[in-house]
Amino acid sequence: SQPSIAHAPVAAPSSPRHPFDLQGRVAVVTGCNTGIGAGIAVALAQAGADIVGLNRSDASETAAQVQVLGRRFVPVQADLSRTEAMAGVLAQVMAAVGQVDILVNNAGIIRRADALDFSEEDWDAVMNTNLKSLFFLSQAVARHMLECAAQQGAQWRGGKIIHIASLLSFQGGVRVPSYTAAKSGVLGLTRLMANEWAAKGINVNAIAPGYIETNNTEALRQDAARAGEILQRIPAGRWGQPADLGGAAVFLASSAADYVHGHTLAVDGGWLAR
Ligand code: NDP
Repeated sequence: SQPSIAHAPVAAPSSPRHPFDLQGRVAVVTGCNTGIGAGIAVALAQAGADIVGLNRSDASETAAQVQVLGRRFVPVQADLSRTEAMAGVLAQVMAAVGQVDILVNNAGIIRRADALDFSEEDWDAVMNTNLKSLFFLSQAVARHMLECAAQQGAQWRGGKIIHIASLLSFQGGVRVPSYTAAKSGVLGLTRLMANEWAAKGINVNAIAPGYIETNNTEALRQDAARAGEILQRIPAGRWGQPADLGGAAVFLASSAADYVHGHTLAVDGGWLAR
């Protein structure tokens, strides 16, 4: 005879909202004037969120795409290599929108040289933009989220922080020592922040994009032999587009991911499965 297993009943949905619905949420997205950040900002807006774009460059194209969807786009000027400025950047965001529900740490740069020749200047540039500002912006936003939690009590809907990691969070790569170190660090910080903040109602997770067609990979794609090798190794048989990251970001930003903490979701056409 079969052993009997006690199952908890599946609760009926308590709200008519779709669990991926982001209406009424404000999402801060760094580096969303182009590339993956733009893809994510538009996807979050499609799901209903208003967007604050933290950019050092003009983001009017992304703003137009967000506004066409009927959502607000609030531009805030920010150079994320200036890590000491993060609390001030958040103050500007707060003055504009009052509350932040979602943070996507997307901005990033890459510098390529053999480890034997790599300069301290390139090391610092990548570490500051890709890791140090990610930490201090997350810290400032998490402090703000906890103030919201204290003020709003049971009405507070929780906070979501999403870091953009990389395949080089898992693999060594070549000629990208500071990028590899920074992106490995992003994974560590995703776990650490999840450990510290999960009980406080903040979900911290990461997305690891595979090879995506953006400015970041333009030099790589111009090397036809290398680009061909990469393509051959991607099980999905194509490079990714910025829009391919949208679904993962919407999921992790939504209440559907309320019980997901410290996870890194690869969106890589199967690269890591190989
Ligand atoms: P892009 O170069 O297209 O976009 C990078 C974004 O970061 C741009 O908006 C850029 O602004 C911004 N940025 C860089 N430095 C700063 C700074 N100091 N202050 C403010 N903004 C800054 O590349 P991707 O879209 O590809 O990269 C987005 C993220 O995805 C990065 O973290 C990258 O490491 C990661 N990633 C990308 C992969 C890919 O295949 N493309 C694979 C894995 C991870 P500006 O336009 O002004 O330079």
